[in-house]
Amino acid sequence: MPIHEKTLIRPENLRVQESLEIDGVDVSGHWSTFIESRAITDYNEAIEDEVAALPGGEYIHRCWQCGSCTNSCTVNAINAEFNPRHWIYLVRIGMESELLRDKEIIWQCVSCNKCTYACPRDVNPEGVMKSLAHWLELKGHTEKSPAQHFDEVFAGQVFATGKIEEGRIIRAFFARTGQALRQDWLMVMAKRLVRHLPLKMMIAMGIGTMFQPKTRGWGRARAAIAEHIAEQKARERKALGLTD
Ligand code: SF4
Ligand code: SF4
Repeated sequence: MPIHEKTLIRPENLRVQESLEIDGVDVSGHWSTFIESRAITDYNEAIEDEVAALPGGEYIHRCWQCGSCTNSCTVNAINAEFNPRHWIYLVRIGMESELLRDKEIIWQCVSCNKCTYACPRDVNPEGVMKSLAHWLELKGHTEKSPAQHFDEVFAGQVFATGKIEEGRIIRAFFARTGQALRQDWLMVMAKRLVRHLPLKMMIAMGIGTMFQPKTRGWGRARAAIAEHIAEQKARERKALGLTD
C-alpha cells in the first residue's frame, strides 16, 4: 500500500545521513531521508476472525480502504494518529504487533458514528473500534478503558433495575475510575439543569437517585438477558481461544 498518511511513518524508522555525497552532489540531511524497510515475521492471521466475532466487528471484511471513515472522524481531526482505516487494514492483514503500538489510543473513539454514515461499504467502523477495544482487553493487551468502565456501569444499572438514572451512573463511573465527583464541567451542567429543568422532572430524578426504583416485572426480563449475555460471552471467549 502506498504511504499517503505521514503519521503512519514512525520516527524511529526514518534514517537521515548527516553527511552524504553521491556523484559529487551533497545530499546530506533532509535530502538523504529514507524509510527503513521492515521484515515482519509475526503475522497473526486469526485477528480478523477474532475481531469479527465480537459485537460491532462483524462486517470488517467488507472494507475496501477508501479512508472515508478516517476523513470524517471526530477524533482524527484533533489527533491524526487516531486512524480507523489504518487499524482496519492492520487487522485484515494480521499485523498484530503494529496494531499493538496504538493500543493506548484505539479506545478513544467517541462513538459519534460519523464514520458509520460515511462508510460506503457498511463496515460499521464505529462498531469495529468498539470490538477492537474489547479484543485488546480480552487478550490482556490493555486494562479496561474508561469507555469500557462506563459501558459496564451503564449496562449494570439497566440490568439491575431496567431503568437509567444518570446521577447514579455518573457517581458509580467516577468511583470506579478514581475521579472526584466535584468537577467543573459537572457543576456547570448541574447549575444549568437546576435552572432549566421542570420541577416535576427534578423531583422524579431525586426519587430515582434515592430509592432506585425497578421496572415492573423486570425480574423475568433480567433472567432472559442474563442467559443471553452468558451465551454471548462464552461464544466470544471461544472465538478468541480463551479457556477460563
Ligand atoms: S465513531 Fe469513533 S471512529 Fe467513528 S468518526 Fe466517531 S470517533 Fe471516529
Ligand atoms: S469508510 Fe468503510 S470502506 Fe472506507 S476505509 Fe473506512 S471502513 Fe473501510
